Amino acid sequence: MNPLSQLPSVDRLLSTAALAALVDLHGRAVVTGVVRDVLAATRAAVKDGALLPDEAGLLEKVGAGVTAKMMPKLRPVFNLTGTVLHTNLGRAPLPEEAVQALIAAARNPCALEYDVESGGRGDRDSVVDELLCELTGAEAATVVNNNAAAVFLLLNTLAQKKQVIVSRGELIEIGGAFRVPDIMSRAGAKLVEVGTTNRTHLKDFAENITPRTAMLMKVHASNYAISGFTHAVPEAELAALAHRHDLPFVIDLGSGTLADLAAYGLPHEPTPAEAIAAGADLVTFSGDKLLGGPQAGLMVGRKDLIAKIKKNPLKRALRVGKLTLAALEAVLALYRDPDRLHLRVTAVRQLTRPEAEIRSAAERLLPALQTALAGLPVSADIVALKSQIGSGSLPVDRLPSAGFAIRPLGKKGGVLNRIEAALRALPKPVIGRIEDGALLLDLRCLQPQDEAEFAALLPALNIRQ
Ligand SMILES: *Cc1c(COP(=O)(O)O)cnc(C)c1O
Repeated sequence: MNPLSQLPSVDRLLSTAALAALVDLHGRAVVTGVVRDVLAATRAAVKDGALLPDEAGLLEKVGAGVTAKMMPKLRPVFNLTGTVLHTNLGRAPLPEEAVQALIAAARNPCALEYDVESGGRGDRDSVVDELLCELTGAEAATVVNNNAAAVFLLLNTLAQKKQVIVSRGELIEIGGAFRVPDIMSRAGAKLVEVGTTNRTHLKDFAENITPRTAMLMKVHASNYAISGFTHAVPEAELAALAHRHDLPFVIDLGSGTLADLAAYGLPHEPTPAEAIAAGADLVTFSGDKLLGGPQAGLMVGRKDLIAKIKKNPLKRALRVGKLTLAALEAVLALYRDPDRLHLRVTAVRQLTRPEAEIRSAAERLLPALQTALAGLPVSADIVALKSQIGSGSLPVDRLPSAGFAIRPLGKKGGVLNRIEAALRALPKPVIGRIEDGALLLDLRCLQPQDEAEFAALLPALNIRQ
């Protein structure tokens, strides 16, 4: 007899109590689709010689299939990589004030392009432009989707079919596909490289200014450092040279923190306010790097230039939505109180978290980890670690941190890969890193309010043999 004739029908499976409950939760269409997939896969497997599973086995497969299908793709994870502003993990986590603002804007109509005072039409940039001017000393500001878009838009507006002079030491590539020369050509501008990789002087810029020059540009070398026999032209000198020729001087700052990070023992990172004070006519920076806000490209500077940029039809294509603006406004407002940034802006809090505090979290959590790993040929210990800032910010600086090192007891390291995979397979995936034969979990970014959730997850760790 053909064993496949024993296979239950779609309707038979859907009529079971188990699947009726799933239909209640997720709807008939989803469950029916998965039942069909499971039955088709089973038929193929049986034709290949596999045994016919019983009904309980089929129902289990359908249950797992529905769970997998309904699992959101954009899931929260624990970032224990040791990289605070991890681009692949969504960069800066938002402060609670920004989360609340974002939710309110998502749930309700809001005055996005509406002037509540006059009852007339408004401009979405006005949600944040006053705050940005206040915090940077600039005359005007605008916001687009990310910093790459800001750089693109300003080049396309001010330098199309013209030349932009940049030092060879600053022709950077940021992860992904952001390369200064590529953005330049896509924006329709002609790059004029001057100086050498390690040294560029004012005369290199001066000698290359022609009637076709649109601007002098400086790109902050955010994700690498050139050290040794080096020279870069100070901003104020470049600004003065540009202005003598009636040209704008533009800086892509990359990270652009609005706070003095040196006050927290972090290395100094140039701020937009310093760039404006040094004479820059336009400065661009990211919303979700050191600033600690949502993904956005912020542009501040001269009123006439910002006005021109806002008239470019591409501004409409690169604009941000209300959720971004709501979160950005709330984060920028926190910068009005620089004394409490390290308590209120999540990214700044994580970057400035004292090593001792991270170590005590490790001490609280070690027993739960050791219990979860009991019986496996590994050791789990608290170790000193070095976190990095990430997103190309302050590339050579490392922050003293603490966390766990899981090491194999035997020679074989395969067990580490299995633990690493099991951590990723948890309902809220835990992302660590394998380095020098150890699986490292850096606790810097485990927020104190999430410790209990983390500990409660560990017993579910399911490590394949
Ligand atoms: C990160 C960075 C960018 C790109 O910014 P996004 O917000 O990621 O688009 C551009 N320039 C510099 C110097 C950067 O550091």
